Amino acid sequence: MIELRGKAVADALKEKMKTFLDQVDELNRPKLAIVRVGERPDDLAYERMVLKNCGAIGLPVQVEAMSEAVATEELIGTIQRLNDDVAVQGILMFRPLPKHIDEQSVIESVAVEKDVDCMNPENLQLRMVSDERAVAPCTPEAVMRILEHYGYELEGKNVVIVNRSTVIGRPLAIMMMEKNATVTICHSRTRNLAEITSRADIVVTGVGKARFFGPEYFNENSVVIDIGINFDEKGSCGDVDYEAVAPKVAAITPVPGGVGTVTSSVLLSHVLPQAFY
Ligand code: NAP
Repeated sequence: MIELRGKAVADALKEKMKTFLDQVDELNRPKLAIVRVGERPDDLAYERMVLKNCGAIGLPVQVEAMSEAVATEELIGTIQRLNDDVAVQGILMFRPLPKHIDEQSVIESVAVEKDVDCMNPENLQLRMVSDERAVAPCTPEAVMRILEHYGYELEGKNVVIVNRSTVIGRPLAIMMMEKNATVTICHSRTRNLAEITSRADIVVTGVGKARFFGPEYFNENSVVIDIGINFDEKGSCGDVDYEAVAPKVAAITPVPGGVGTVTSSVLLSHVLPQAFY
């Protein structure tokens, strides 16, 4: 079994960004703004990683932490302030937002050119037609970078993605198809899930359920990319029961230390001018 650790992938990207930023005067460097509503553990874990990485490469960052009870209008007001701030080149907002917030209106308020995680439907539409003027959503791009780094050719491969969200499953399916993979998307209404995933060459899991996938979902040649970030009594873990599955597949990303590690570096690269990536 090969452990597909994210660190090697992220380190290569961070080194490239640091070299780029070292050449820019500190006052003129692009800046990232993080907008967080509430204190969900997965948001906080991701935020900590982003802040650490910004420090390591010399990228300025500010956090706008808002109460879980914030009203839609106030949240949009914060985003508009960041849209107008010439020092801010990228805006990242954690989702999902609390149920009382009109998430769609908030997402649409993020300026297209500062939308580093490709949330705005305008950017998603561009990605749908493979228009590279829009950045890719960070997590799907991290998955693609991991597969590329470890030398997995996608052409003609059967890829199963267990997630149909607009943040993960849908854009990832497009990116996989751009590399000529044959893609199946599964979700909570899929029947006989294990039968479908166990036939695939590559399985990407993003259900958000701790240790949901046991060995019956895979075969000995499976390449498993676990996007899930969950917390149970032992700490953070993925959607895959790593201890039970790892010895029985060809390759697997660990959690923590896999996709999430790369996602935060991909995000930072989207704050830099497009010529960079
Ligand atoms: P989401 O919108 O809740 O999507 C979850 C998906 O899983 C949905 O498509 C859902 O199906 C499907 N699903 C749920 N239970 C299932 C089941 N029993 N069988 C098959 N499919 C099932 O969540 P998300 O925002 O996409 O995030 C998913 C996970 O990724 C979370 O754990 C999140 O923390 C993690 N995440 C990781 C990163 C990273 O960098 N590693 C970044 C962002 C998010 P339906 O559509 O039918 O409901």
